[in-house]
Amino acid sequence: MTNGIKDNYSVIVVGAGLGGIGAACQLALNGEKVLLLEKHNVPGGFATSFVRGRFEFEGALHELSDIGTMENKGSLRRFLERLGVLPDNIKFKHVPEFYRSVYTDGFDVTMPITFEDYKSKLIELFPHEEKGIEDFMDMLKALLAGIEFVASQGGRFSPLEVLKKHPWLPRISGLTLSEVYQKFFTDQKLIALISQLWGYIGLPPDRVNAYAYLAMLVFYLNWGAAYPVGRSHAFTSAMIDAFRRLGGEVRFNALVDQILVENGKVAGVKLLNGDIYRAKAVISNVNPICTAMKLLPPEEVPNSYKKAVYAPEIGPSGLSVYLGLNASYKDLGITAHENFINTTWDMNEAFKCFMKLEPPKYMVAACYNHIHDDISPPGTTQLVLTTLQFGKLWESVAPDQYFYLKDYLGDKMVELIEKTICPNIRDYIEVAEIATPLTYYRYSKNMEGAIYGYTQDILNGPLLRLRSRGAIPGLYQVGAWTNVGGGFSTCILGGRIAAGMYLNDKKKGRV
Ligand SMILES: Cc1cc2nc3c(=O)[nH]c(=O)nc-3n(C[C@H](O)[C@H](O)[C@H](O)COP(=O)(O)OP(=O)(O)OC[C@H]3O[C@@H](n4cnc5c(N)ncnc54)[C@H](O)[C@@H]3O)c2cc1C
Repeated sequence: MTNGIKDNYSVIVVGAGLGGIGAACQLALNGEKVLLLEKHNVPGGFATSFVRGRFEFEGALHELSDIGTMENKGSLRRFLERLGVLPDNIKFKHVPEFYRSVYTDGFDVTMPITFEDYKSKLIELFPHEEKGIEDFMDMLKALLAGIEFVASQGGRFSPLEVLKKHPWLPRISGLTLSEVYQKFFTDQKLIALISQLWGYIGLPPDRVNAYAYLAMLVFYLNWGAAYPVGRSHAFTSAMIDAFRRLGGEVRFNALVDQILVENGKVAGVKLLNGDIYRAKAVISNVNPICTAMKLLPPEEVPNSYKKAVYAPEIGPSGLSVYLGLNASYKDLGITAHENFINTTWDMNEAFKCFMKLEPPKYMVAACYNHIHDDISPPGTTQLVLTTLQFGKLWESVAPDQYFYLKDYLGDKMVELIEKTICPNIRDYIEVAEIATPLTYYRYSKNMEGAIYGYTQDILNGPLLRLRSRGAIPGLYQVGAWTNVGGGFSTCILGGRIAAGMYLNDKKKGRV
């Protein structure tokens, strides 16, 4: 260290969200000297928890895919094992059912999570669509085989071979989900039931890229859904501990203000407090628009990159009501962990609500005690209601209207629970906290509070999304906005992809 400038790092990672943590851990596993800088005082970004009264609320995670079991390991489990996080430093609980789907017209079904049980339940509910369901489930298996084939090739696969052996993979990547459904069935209720997780991506079937949705669906069906004991905070903390054990360094309360550039290449970062850290490579978990337009000197960013970061549509943020209830979930009659509540079968109509400051027509109520009974004090329940809202809407809400509006919408969301899964819920509310897109923006600094980055519409599916390579040599981009998009396992995977890109560049003498 000379003159307050620290320069013994090979890579600096900015932001300890899941993308940043995934990248930092992958680099540390490969022996790189890595510094992870996070503006907040805890890791995780959205993947965190917070305390109100006697409740510690999960901030984001509902169902984690890609963990699997010892007998059927998902790729995230294998990564956690390599890091030494599993088996001893975190435990997972498995969600016994996939999801409960409730409509205000009285339809109420709980879907099982294994492949065969899910198929049987669909056929039981929609016998007239049996052939289409069989074919659809076969297609999902073929898709999974294609994804596993590509993953097994470590990025060096022949597109022709994929086209020949796994045609569903390229085929669905260029279609909307609705276009794929048309090949299998017509019953709109069946379509809505299979699409019930559409809020996890943020777009209805008419707009969402089929690959994004179907890959998520088949991952859950193949590896189940898990939840970390100790919430997301314990999960990200265990990864940070592993990173440190591997020699990585972390600084919290470290807001990066500038990415330093010399001769057109990355030279390090400068914090808001003036500290300078030098490195030839920076991996940014700060959203790509801010990375390119705020952290870098504007004259260093090629116009083509500026266009690339502004071109895709920014996806939705969240509106969540965190409820601490002073009765057990059993007494409250809540029978599943993940409860989707719908007031319409028309998903386009429900989606339009995300663009208005109006009560939602689609939301999810996660009852964590159902899988993790001691997540709240004995005899209580933690219930989190979440719908989506585009953050832009909230930017024009006048300050004196903000609290009124969030209370009004939060109240309407509780009302939906009263009308569907728990009529007496208001009698048991001990703590209530509401997060709006402005809350999500404030904590994460994601543009418009977007929780999944850019939308995953047909023009911005996994093949066309912004990649890890950043605006200038030595800069890499991770997080929900890039690669395979938002979500826990996808952001960690995207971080690992960026780390691999850096290691490859280093080998070839590019950094
Ligand atoms: C309510 C809710 C429910 C969700 N449910 C699920 C779910 O069930 N399953 C699922 O898979 N996904 C879910 N998600 C989505 C998932 O949480 C996100 O897509 C994912 O966590 C985003 O990770 P990221 O890598 O983009 O980082 P982010 O979470 O965006 O974190 C970015 C990090 O960078 C830091 N940072 C920003 N600027 C700076 C700076 N200048 N200097 C230093 N640090 C900086 C921030 O403080 C933050 O820690 C949910 C999200 C929310 C909000």
